[in-house]
Amino acid sequence: MLLTNGRIHTLDAAGSVVDTLVVRDGRVAFAGRRADVNPAAREAVLDLAGRTVLPGLVDGHGHLMLLARARLELDLAAARSEDEIARAVGVAASRLRPGEWIAGRGWDQTRWPGQGFPTRASLDRAAPGHPVALVRVDGHATWASGAALERAGIGRHSADPAGGRIVKDERGEPTGILIDLAQDLIRALVPPPSEERFDAAVEAVIAECLAKGLTGAHEPGLDLGAVASYTRLIGRGRFPFRVFAALSGKKAWRQYRERGRPESIGDGHLTVGAIKLWLDGALGSRGAALHAPYCDDPANTGLVLVPPEEVLRLTREAAALGFHVWVHAIGDRANTLVLDVFERALADGGPRPRLRVEHAQILAPADIPRFARLGVVPSMQPTHCTSDMRWAEERLGPERLAGAYAWRSVLDSGAYVAGGSDFPVEDANPFHGIHAAVTRAPREGPDPGWQPAQRMSREEAVRAFTIWNARSIGREAELGSLEPGKRADLIALSEDVFACAPERIARIAPVLTLVGGAVAHADQEVGASLPTSWRSSGMSTSDTSA
Ligand SMILES: [Zn+2]
Repeated sequence: MLLTNGRIHTLDAAGSVVDTLVVRDGRVAFAGRRADVNPAAREAVLDLAGRTVLPGLVDGHGHLMLLARARLELDLAAARSEDEIARAVGVAASRLRPGEWIAGRGWDQTRWPGQGFPTRASLDRAAPGHPVALVRVDGHATWASGAALERAGIGRHSADPAGGRIVKDERGEPTGILIDLAQDLIRALVPPPSEERFDAAVEAVIAECLAKGLTGAHEPGLDLGAVASYTRLIGRGRFPFRVFAALSGKKAWRQYRERGRPESIGDGHLTVGAIKLWLDGALGSRGAALHAPYCDDPANTGLVLVPPEEVLRLTREAAALGFHVWVHAIGDRANTLVLDVFERALADGGPRPRLRVEHAQILAPADIPRFARLGVVPSMQPTHCTSDMRWAEERLGPERLAGAYAWRSVLDSGAYVAGGSDFPVEDANPFHGIHAAVTRAPREGPDPGWQPAQRMSREEAVRAFTIWNARSIGREAELGSLEPGKRADLIALSEDVFACAPERIARIAPVLTLVGGAVAHADQEVGASLPTSWRSSGMSTSDTSA
């Protein structure tokens, strides 16, 4: 297969731009000038019509499993009040038998009038007798109904579990809000979807990701059920995507620890090669662990979910077996703690897996240079900045903002950033992330941007979603750029991401997505022009002309 007449950004070390690629056996065989290549007799040729081509974008922190689950639950992301959600729960209840569970995800009280947490009372009125469990947009709080609390045995005498909080009212009654690890009391009771429904949802969300320009994701927290689902889909040839996954949960880790090494399934489609640990909560639910109290909650410095000694023990255990270690740290205290842990683990010597800090969202100034010094990768999500900028200062105050979402400072210290979205917390669209990284402004319209000195260049942002992501999982020899020998994962764009107006970046869509040299997605026009032999069984099409 020969692709020619494009502006093909290889993202090799020199930043070469070429006009022609030859793809054979799923890999790049040649990248250079059309004049220097003689196509084989029956080699198919695709004219890229001058379009910009990039290596396939990869989400460095995307929860495919949770996105698929969210498709099977109530989607509350668009709700703008507690009442609106209660009404949706009432409608769902009217379609169920008495006492059946109602699950949902995506609510965000910072988008509602008053910005206060909701309570069980509205759910109990809307769906009496139904256990209801609604997960906050960031996954760090669950809003439960009275029936759900009852089934979990949560009452006024229940104490907070380690690393969690059962929010209570002034009379000492649980309000229905469960923070961080207190959520496990209820979540374990929600019945999972059937294998068939879950597999179909995974296929559907992969198609959505491909249409947005993603050819893969690093999944921070996969359970054994999801590993089994992806493996079934790979076996059926229905998984045109690459997932590098970190295990979550004791049960999954126990199984892989016994196995003794990472696992690769399919032709580079799924690698189970890391463990995910959570050191603190999130800023929106005030569970992020801070050195000093929250400005808008002066008695609270957040939650440390796992003792740092335990994080160190697990880091050593996983690293010795060749697993990478990804630790969630949002607050400045959590970031100091995880860097301390990694520093001690690295001092052991021995195998050196990639160590990543997921989010690295609020950094004390003294911690910023430690990433480069230790070789620890900050895995950051630019759209968290543009979503949180509305209220981050209320939580943190002006001084701490200097180290908040501070990717420019991190890059200037010599580190590189793995770029992601944290979908389903944010939209999976990687062009939203590139836009946020280079503008720090909302997508809705012209805006000077928030803390504009922390912007990335477009080149850096594209690298964060490609070659730097590959490096952060130790796969830079195989993925992340379009150089001979690497996998032919690439996208041809509707518009040039390096030349368009900044506000256009978020609207870019791929007209063509290849994974391992096979067409995984095409828009209608390009799809119609493709030789039939290129269309893979799972290929989807979309209309990008709008
Ligand atoms: Zn996440």
